[in-house]
Amino acid sequence: METLTRLVRLFSKLPGLGPKSANRIVYHLLKCDKTYIEALSKGLEDLIVNIKECSVCGNYTDCDPCSLCSDPSRQKDIICVVEEPKDIQAIEGTGEYTGVYHVLMGVISPINGIGPSDLRIPQLLNRIGKSKIQEIILATNPTVEGDTTALYLLDKLKSFHVRVSRLALGLPMGGDLEYADRLTLARAFSGRQEIN
Ligand SMILES: [Zn+2]
Repeated sequence: METLTRLVRLFSKLPGLGPKSANRIVYHLLKCDKTYIEALSKGLEDLIVNIKECSVCGNYTDCDPCSLCSDPSRQKDIICVVEEPKDIQAIEGTGEYTGVYHVLMGVISPINGIGPSDLRIPQLLNRIGKSKIQEIILATNPTVEGDTTALYLLDKLKSFHVRVSRLALGLPMGGDLEYADRLTLARAFSGRQEIN
């Protein structure tokens, strides 16, 4: 396949980009400064070589444990459970939260054949069993699947003596944490409700 066609196809697989916009990007790159293209290409290479999952929380990181898990100023006895690493970014953007995180890497979704064992749930239970945890905040998205996952976790967490809370309503149903504005997300955090 021709270099240009191949690159357009690769770009068109990215979220939000169709063949037309992929085409526009590739032609734009052809006009760009060579050092920019080299930096971009190096950045993509580093993505495979350097980025790994934090062995504690599952966040994407250059060093293991990640900067949040190894930060002495973070409260290690509060764990906020999120679906994806990008949710951590959204929550950190509020500046409201000082605990640590646990990334599930998805949600329970029978339609897509994703069950609890496909997620980082065993790692979460193991983590709670090993250290003294005060509170677990279930911050899965306000979707049917996010709620199902939260209910499943609530049930699993019954055997641990730990406070469990869910982000306060007010986040739009069916919406994603990452699209909520800072203030809404901050309010959802400070108004979180205990559910066990
Ligand atoms: Zn971590």
